[in-house]
Amino acid sequence: MIVADQKPIEEILQMLEPYRKVLFLGCQTCVAVCMAGGEKEVGLLAAAVRLARKHQGRPIEIVEGAVKRQCDDEFNEPWAKTIEQQEAVLSLACGVGVNKLSERFDVPILPALNTKFFGEVERQGVWAEVCAGCGNCILHLTGGICPIARCAKNLLNGPCGGVRADGTCEVAQNGSRPCAWVMIYERLGKLNQRQNLENIFGAKDWSSDRHGGPRKRIREDMLLEG
Ligand code: SF4
Ligand code: SF4
Repeated sequence: MIVADQKPIEEILQMLEPYRKVLFLGCQTCVAVCMAGGEKEVGLLAAAVRLARKHQGRPIEIVEGAVKRQCDDEFNEPWAKTIEQQEAVLSLACGVGVNKLSERFDVPILPALNTKFFGEVERQGVWAEVCAGCGNCILHLTGGICPIARCAKNLLNGPCGGVRADGTCEVAQNGSRPCAWVMIYERLGKLNQRQNLENIFGAKDWSSDRHGGPRKRIREDMLLEG
């Protein structure tokens, strides 16, 4: 899932400064799961903003809503009329949702969230980055643990010389994060695949990663004619 955080209220109030009629539009998928931009967060943020603006003597009219997936026009379209009646939209989706609405509507779309990473739920209230979307997965060779996303130095052949004796990463403060390569070593041991460590990864072709430029995936068999 995509993990995001809500921006500080002061920053949101500053973005909303010029506007008096705004739609707060959440997204009911990833950002709802990580409790940053779902229907509940829309309600809480709208209440806080209304109150703050009332105190400033500049009341704001807020319409609240949430769509199933803001990254898909299909779900945003039923809101088209409402969006066009606003001075601005505050999007509580990830950056993809903000981009999607901006492509479709001639209304300023403001980001209420800071989009962070692709992550897993580690435990209640904790999300961790585990995939960097490199576009050429090697997890079958590393026991299902990603060195690109989980090693602070993105090392393909590790560990580095800085791994601590207790198996934590030298980059993380206070030993708060295990070394990804120690995790890979242990995992490969459990799978009887430690021989994988004898294969030295060559230089990775990063053209499939986002550093090769904005990417697009096209499924010819899914395209509609015309
Ligand atoms: S190897 Fe690439 S695609 Fe696979 S988990 Fe790591 S970053 Fe993601
Ligand atoms: S200690 Fe491990 S996780 Fe940290 S930078 Fe070195 S190899 Fe990567």
